[in-house]
Amino acid sequence: MRNMKIVLASRNAHKIKELQTLLSKHVEDIEILSLDDVGITGEIEENGSTYRENALIKARVAATSGYIGLGDDSGLSVRALGGAPGVYSARYAGEHGDNAANNALLLKNLEGETDRFAEFVCTIACVFPSKDEPLVVEGRTQGVILDGARGSEGFGYDPLFFYEPYGKTFAELSAEEKNAISHRGKAIEALACELKKMNI
Ligand code: IMP
Repeated sequence: MRNMKIVLASRNAHKIKELQTLLSKHVEDIEILSLDDVGITGEIEENGSTYRENALIKARVAATSGYIGLGDDSGLSVRALGGAPGVYSARYAGEHGDNAANNALLLKNLEGETDRFAEFVCTIACVFPSKDEPLVVEGRTQGVILDGARGSEGFGYDPLFFYEPYGKTFAELSAEEKNAISHRGKAIEALACELKKMNI
């Protein structure tokens, strides 16, 4: 497989680099481009009701570049809260990306709750210029929500998400340790595996 170009529906340089690094470990000669690299402007409205729908919305926009389009969506699903915050994870407390407020609201909503089971989910969709059927892969990692924050690494709900096999929260893991077992790491691994099988 040679010179596979993929446009990730993002402008976040960190996300582009992370995907480039993780996919390059599995697939030879792969190049990840951003929306800016291919001149796609404007915000993408993530108005789907599932991770899959949102990932597909983003991947379809990226695919208008003429290259393979890739979109991802992830979040935290808490069992005692009926799967919330789910697709609203980034804006659980209202404002997009306010991690401190999101974590505070999560703790408040779980006050007195004994069922602390939660799952991080990452869905990645790939839309190909030459194929009708998209490829959709998913990664999940299970844990429990603590009563208070622990650790300073990572982002989002990491300080509250306790990963039992390691006896640590995600915010107490290095980026490499987290990638090896995280929902995102698993989804990217599944994507790499599927891309390797395809002769594009
Ligand atoms: P995104 O779809 O990757 O942008 O993630 C949406 C939201 O889900 C983030 O803003 C976080 O609140 C939450 N989230 C997703 N993945 C993680 C993670 O690995 N750690 C902590 N929070 C996460």
